[in-house]
Amino acid sequence: DSKDFRCLQEQREQLPIARGRESLMRSIALHDVTIILGETGSGKTTQVPQYLLEEGSYHGQIAVTQPRRVAATSLATRVSAEQGQPLGTLVGYSVRFDERVSPGTRIKYLTDGMLIREMMNDSLLTRYGIVIVDEAHERTLRTDIVLASLKQILARRNGRRDERTAKGKGKANPLKVIVMSATMDAEKFSNFFEKAPVLYVKGRQHPVSIFHTSTSQNDYLDAALRTFFQIHVDRPPGDVLVFLPGQDDIESLESSLRLYASQLPHGVSDVVICPLYASLPNAQQAKVFLPTPPSSRKCILATNIAETSITIPGVRYVIDTGKQKEKRHFARIAGSGFDTLLTTDITKSSAVQRSGRAGRDGHGYCFRLYTEDAFNSMAVSAEPEVQRSSLTSAFLQLKVIGQDLDAMPFMDRPDQESVGSALRTLWLLDAIDNSRHLTDFGRSLAMFPLEPQYAAILLASVNHSCTSEVISILALLSSSAPLFTDSSSQRDAANEARAKFRHPSGDHWAMLNVFRAYDEVRVTEGKSGYKGWCKRNFVNQRALREAGDIRTQLRGICDGMGIDCNLSCGNEEVPVLRSLLRGLLQQVAFLQPDGSYKQVMGPSVVKIHPSSFLADKRSPAIIYNELVYTTNIYARGVSAVYKSFISEFPKLTGIRVS
Ligand code: ADP
Ligand code: MG
Repeated sequence: DSKDFRCLQEQREQLPIARGRESLMRSIALHDVTIILGETGSGKTTQVPQYLLEEGSYHGQIAVTQPRRVAATSLATRVSAEQGQPLGTLVGYSVRFDERVSPGTRIKYLTDGMLIREMMNDSLLTRYGIVIVDEAHERTLRTDIVLASLKQILARRNGRRDERTAKGKGKANPLKVIVMSATMDAEKFSNFFEKAPVLYVKGRQHPVSIFHTSTSQNDYLDAALRTFFQIHVDRPPGDVLVFLPGQDDIESLESSLRLYASQLPHGVSDVVICPLYASLPNAQQAKVFLPTPPSSRKCILATNIAETSITIPGVRYVIDTGKQKEKRHFARIAGSGFDTLLTTDITKSSAVQRSGRAGRDGHGYCFRLYTEDAFNSMAVSAEPEVQRSSLTSAFLQLKVIGQDLDAMPFMDRPDQESVGSALRTLWLLDAIDNSRHLTDFGRSLAMFPLEPQYAAILLASVNHSCTSEVISILALLSSSAPLFTDSSSQRDAANEARAKFRHPSGDHWAMLNVFRAYDEVRVTEGKSGYKGWCKRNFVNQRALREAGDIRTQLRGICDGMGIDCNLSCGNEEVPVLRSLLRGLLQQVAFLQPDGSYKQVMGPSVVKIHPSSFLADKRSPAIIYNELVYTTNIYARGVSAVYKSFISEFPKLTGIRVS
């Protein structure tokens, strides 16, 4: 172990950033805000917090924010090892539904969403001496909120520079802010923080040869598959990193790769496939960092998480589909507005980052599955998320901190239509009153790491005495994987297996039936038993496992708030439907004579998604979890409700019920 530790120390010293350590520390000591630009893999995220810790002159904890949870957890694991300490002691992490920290923790990797959550209890972030905002170029909504908040916190904790004594000493607990990124508009960030200094860290980058396709590809999965095997059969050793838009594409390419890899002739080396996406469990993520076994080639299938957040050594070939998943908010389409993940073309700066991943260990090769013209017509960089996503939950969290989203010093102004839609949603939920003031109910909603709509459902379930059922349903709805596995090849068997979970009220209770059956199988048959059970019933074991963890955490939060999590309505569905309705007020639709459904709070006419248990039913009124937008607007996750329940909500009925 001490040999491993020495080896890690040698690796640390060889990182490009090590050469600039002293000048970095000097600049940080002199300025409130420092901006660090550096190539991916140069050592910014893992080293800068350790350097600051090793200086010994900074008090308080060091926060390092990440846009994605998988980056926060894997970086904390790595840096703990570099410090020679168990994870969760000196170095820890905090992400939604999961935390590993202790009172002695000095370096904490956390998602930017968690840092905002912490501001709800400690608006000046007094426990931190240093806050590092990493991956700032991604300009996620939460990163932008963190940046705007830090600007205000700096003014309050450090005071104005010219008011401080000549020695530079300010208030008792000053804050240092460090903004880090692989690529970004350095000047814009520097100007935002009153001309903060910008430091550049040079990476160790080898040349990368870039190839484009001559014609555009309409099936990027098939093109990726063919390109991988061309590399594998023809080219010298070196791992392959494939960029794909999302988890479903990763899973589908993984299964075709496995199929073809098992048919390779003798003499061709083995293929080790490693998926990498945001919701992958920790233990599986760790596999991408394991050394590739001799005479085999690693093929990493990743989302844009591998673009800058996570650096995987050994990659010589990159295959870039040119696609990504992007969250888009449609403020207008559904009245209430809705978020959806769309597969979109990447930006030029993403394409450059992706190809750069091939040149870390030597001359690299990047195969772009799109034409050079397509590259030239890509947008230069991404539009900030604050201008294209739902602001409801952010609005509520800021209200709790005593801020108004409208009044925050954002780097770019939020989309006004989304601001309006967020305000409307919070008002309908009774989270804010007519004069936009936060209500006590709104404050309670914000305590949960859930969308405000889901938190409202949970709180309503206390009044309807069905917390036990509702927490299970919400845990499943919050899980990142779909509950039912894809089974296009065995549709009849799947439908038959699923039929036993059916419930006349619809999909929410059916989800509960799955969860209940799973809980029972776990008790009666143990771990080995439930694996087979999931397979036979075409339900996704990962979704259930994840939901199980989320349920545990939600119960913990309820306990902390004095809420009894064991209130059960047994087999009576009405209390559950009433609770669901409390949060899904904007997701109510009434049956039309032609069998479609008209939104009560919006202009759209929707159909029930074919995957729903209610798809072939005609129910006078429905509630749904989400809309998916394909050839039609489909409502997914649907339950039937009585119209009379709806009259309990004056805000809804006052607007339009007929
Ligand atoms: P940057 O933030 O500048 O992109 P990082 O600090 O994330 O760079 O990474 C520095 C180096 O540390 C990487 O090039 C990689 O080799 C190594 N590294 C980072 N995380 C891990 C990990 N979980 N396992 C193994 N090596 C890692
Ligand atoms: Mg980094």
